[in-house]
Amino acid sequence: MKPANKIWLNGKITSISGARFLNFNQGLNYGACIYEGIRFYKTSKCPGVFRLREHTDRFFYSAKTLGMDLGLTKGEFMEAIKQTIRANKLSSGYLRPLAYYSEPKMGINIIGSELTLSIFVWPWRDEINTKRVCMKIVKTRRLDPSTVDFKAKIGGYYANSLLGFLEARRAGFDEPLFLDTKGFIAEGAINNIFIVRSGILYTPESGNILSGITRDSIIKIAGDLGIKVVEKKLRPEFLRLADEIFLTGTGIELERVGKIQNFFDKKSDVTKITDKLQDRYREIVSGRIKKYFNWIDLL
Ligand code: PMP
Repeated sequence: MKPANKIWLNGKITSISGARFLNFNQGLNYGACIYEGIRFYKTSKCPGVFRLREHTDRFFYSAKTLGMDLGLTKGEFMEAIKQTIRANKLSSGYLRPLAYYSEPKMGINIIGSELTLSIFVWPWRDEINTKRVCMKIVKTRRLDPSTVDFKAKIGGYYANSLLGFLEARRAGFDEPLFLDTKGFIAEGAINNIFIVRSGILYTPESGNILSGITRDSIIKIAGDLGIKVVEKKLRPEFLRLADEIFLTGTGIELERVGKIQNFFDKKSDVTKITDKLQDRYREIVSGRIKKYFNWIDLL
């Protein structure tokens, strides 16, 4: 069923055919979209896309979960990513592939609906992240794994992230920290959390979180540097004895946490293990460590 021609848009009645970007669609209405965030960095040779295969696998897994046929192979998708970077003549930046049900169709039946697939790219300089964020454990609990498939990155899930984000911001904090429905630490709105205690790196086990690709990189890098990593269920009280806390995500890479309301207040600037991991991560993404060359797809 197609919508009628006249719509209200930004204060005016206008005809759909004249509206440049608007179309009613299920992607917007129901969060029926999937996306990825991918970074590429300058290397000594040419731009290199970091962990492109893993991002591609997750994007295709998300598509399958939401019944989408992307109409191209993983190889073609990876080539499209590189083509987008080349077309913009960029040496470093952030890519956002997005697929959504774009047919102006009413109702929840997405089966067979038309899809739009786009890849946007932003030029980003690869500067070291020196931010220190203040977090609040929010009342909104993380989505329960029995209600969603956490291995997929589906737009609709982010309603949950947004509620927590607003709750944190309204209380004067930068970012929310979510607990799962059983009260264990889960993750941030769009990032995973790591806690350093007595030289050991702890992170919530996968299952109740979107276990990110950066999280995976950090676990492997830490292991290679001889830092012990423990993935387990953690109660918020565990944060009280933390020496360092940081967040991970493709965009932020590693980001220091300075405070978590009522649980953690880091007075000193010393973040030895975070520094070590961050330095190593940056050497790896810019193609300076041979051991990790297979994480980089050169253009
Ligand atoms: N958790 C959530 C909910 C996210 O949206 C993201 C960002 N994709 C992450 C964690 C971090 O994932 P990644 O390291 O793959 O960017």
